[in-house]
Parts: sequence; C-alpha cells; structure tokens
Amino acid sequence: MAGTEGSPVVIVGAGVAGLSCARALAEGGRRALVLDRAHGVGGRCATRALEGQPVDYGAVFLHGRDPAFLAALDAVPATRLDWPADVHGSGPPCQPEAFSPGEVRRAFAEGVNAFPRHLAEGLELRLQRKVVGLVPGDGTVALRLDDGSFLEAETAVLALAAEQADELLATVLPAPPAVAAARALLATASSHCALALLAVYGPAAPRPPWHVSYPETSRIVQLVSHESSKRPGSPLLVLTYQAHPAWSRQHLDDPDWPRRVLDEAARLLGPWAADPRTAHPHRWRWARTDLAAELARPLLLALPGGARLGVAGDRFAPGGGIEAAWRSGRALAGRVLAGEGA
Ligand SMILES: Cc1cc2nc3c(=O)[nH]c(=O)nc-3n(C[C@H](O)[C@H](O)[C@H](O)COP(=O)(O)OP(=O)(O)OC[C@H]3O[C@@H](n4cnc5c(N)ncnc54)[C@H](O)[C@@H]3O)c2cc1C
Repeated sequence: MAGTEGSPVVIVGAGVAGLSCARALAEGGRRALVLDRAHGVGGRCATRALEGQPVDYGAVFLHGRDPAFLAALDAVPATRLDWPADVHGSGPPCQPEAFSPGEVRRAFAEGVNAFPRHLAEGLELRLQRKVVGLVPGDGTVALRLDDGSFLEAETAVLALAAEQADELLATVLPAPPAVAAARALLATASSHCALALLAVYGPAAPRPPWHVSYPETSRIVQLVSHESSKRPGSPLLVLTYQAHPAWSRQHLDDPDWPRRVLDEAARLLGPWAADPRTAHPHRWRWARTDLAAELARPLLLALPGGARLGVAGDRFAPGGGIEAAWRSGRALAGRVLAGEGA
C-alpha cells in the first residue's frame, strides 16, 4: 500500500482482525506484512465454492452496530444483501446479539469472505506460512516458520483465535512476566468448537421458505443456513448445518458426525434432507468466543530486549464475532501507531 515506511509490523493471521490491523497501520503510514498458514485470507469468515456456488461455512452472515464497522461493510465491492430477513424457529442463535434491537445484519451474494478479501486488497501478504515459535532478541522478535526459516520484527502481532495465540506465547521461553500474565488471562476461558456440514441437494429438493432456521427442538443442529437463498436463480439447494457447541465438543473426533447431522436434518426438514448429492464436513476447533470471556481491548506486550508483541482477535473487544475481530485489529493498530509499549 502506498505511503507506508519503516520496518514492517509482522502480523500473524489474515483473518478479519489481522487484516483490519494491517489496513489501519497502512492508513497510518506504517508498513505491515501479514502471514497466514492457509491458502486464502479470511480465517473463520469463510466461503468456499461448491458446484459453482459460493457457500459460507463459518459465520454465515455479518452483523454489528458500530458505524465504522458498518461503513467498512458498505465499502465492500460485492452484492450486498439484507440477509437473513426470514428467520425461522426460536432456538438460540450462535450470537444472540445478532438479533438484538439496533443490530444490522448483512450478507454478500459472493459470500461473507468478500469482506476480508476486500480488507486484504493492496496489503503485503504471505500465505501458506505457518508461525510455530517466537524468539525475543535484541530489539526484535524472531518468528520461526514451519519451514525452519525466521522472520524478524520490531513489532509483531498475533491475530488468531485466543487458543492459537496462547500456543505461540507458550514458545517464549523463559516466559517474561508480561507474557506469563497474558497467558494467565487467556487461560480463563476457551472458545466453543463447531461442526459445520455443507450439503448440496439436487434440483428436485424443496426450497425452504426461510433464510436461516434455529430449530428449537434439536440438541444437535443449532442453525440451518439456506445458502442458495443468497444466490437467487441458483439451480441447486445448498444448506449449511451448524451443530450446537456442546454436541460439537462431544463429537469432534467422531467419524460418523456428518451422518448424525444429516439424520437430524431429515427429522427437522423431511426425509429428502438425509441424502444430499454431496456433503462437505468442516470441523472448527475454535469457532467462537464465549461471551463471558471477552476482553475490553487488545494486548500490547513489551518483550525483554525491547520488541513489542500485540495480541488481537475476536476475544479482544466486547461483543465477540467478526465485528469484535475488526475492532480489536484497528484498536491494536492505533496503539502501535501511538508508540505504546515502545
Ligand atoms: C461456525 C461458525 C459460526 C460463527 N458465527 C458467527 C456469527 O454468527 N456472528 C459473528 O460475528 N461471528 C461468528 N463466528 C465467529 C467469527 O467468524 C470469528 O469471531 C471471526 O471471524 C474471528 O476473526 P479473527 O481474525 O479474530 O480470527 P480468525 O478468523 O480465526 O483468523 C485467524 C487466522 O490465523 C491463521 N492462523 C492460525 N494459526 C496460525 C499460525 N500459527 N501461523 C499462521 N497463521 C495462523 C488462520 O489460518 C486464520 O486465517 C462464527 C464462527 C464459526 C466458525
């Protein structure tokens, strides 16, 4: 991005938190380099293509109320939808505040991943780079990558699920007091996991008359997202099923979980739902922050030797989810630009 200078802030994680941090740094005139272990950007704000259709399988819509966040969503060059408009069932939503008064809900026909893809435009990115360790040095911190190479930074940022950030903090040995305190804070709660099943049905399958269903009678399925309703004219019915956090935790390593979800889908929707023409399972080990575990702001730690280490992500702003991830990244960028922790 033009107008940036100095040694880059190295950001680990190209999810919404890492990308919003990088953009805000670049807007403030500071170079940022974003690393991610995945093939693409977005992390849990995830969309994949199935039979030519984009399908969301992490968060299935975006929601929030911070005017700056809503303006960032409005800036995405994609087909904006006021979705979900038709909500069925009275089971508990993943994030109850998504339906509280004043909350704005959005989706994109191209998939929710259009948002992080837009945030990533013009940024320096390196994909398929997994960071496996942190080594504080004299004025810098060295990030060890899984290919054995190192990348040095005066300021590094971990923009990951809290458990993944903790794994990296655990590699700072011996742990300086600031790192030990950060780890103690992160240990106070763990994120919920979620099993998600994407199911593509043939043209004969009936189209549900709703966008999202939260079945009140299921211990297994928390949400059914009618993905093809985001893409009018789509010849195939595509649904994403998300399992309840407690059921997901119990069945994370059960190879039969996709079958169990489809059997439950048949009970909820009708026998046709048991037999999609293709089904694609995805296990989210760290899907969502427990609302009780949210922290007020991102961390900025001073390491021995003088380097700075920031920690951002959806745990590090009130409200959780994508809006919190976005806000935490920007808040951390503001603190780095202000020279805090130097
Ligand atoms: C099934 C599901 C449903 C959800 N529903 C909602 C909802 O209704 N509303 C809502 O607001 N939010 C929801 N969320 C949560 C929302 O998606 C997340 O809160 C948000 O996307 C988190 O963004 P992040 O940038 O903090 O983390 P992430 O998106 O997890 O980004 C972290 C990135 O770091 C990368 N990474 C991890 N470890 C390493 C490493 N060692 N080296 C390099 N890269 C690494 C990952 O590949 C990832 O791209 C849901 C999530 C899931 C999974």
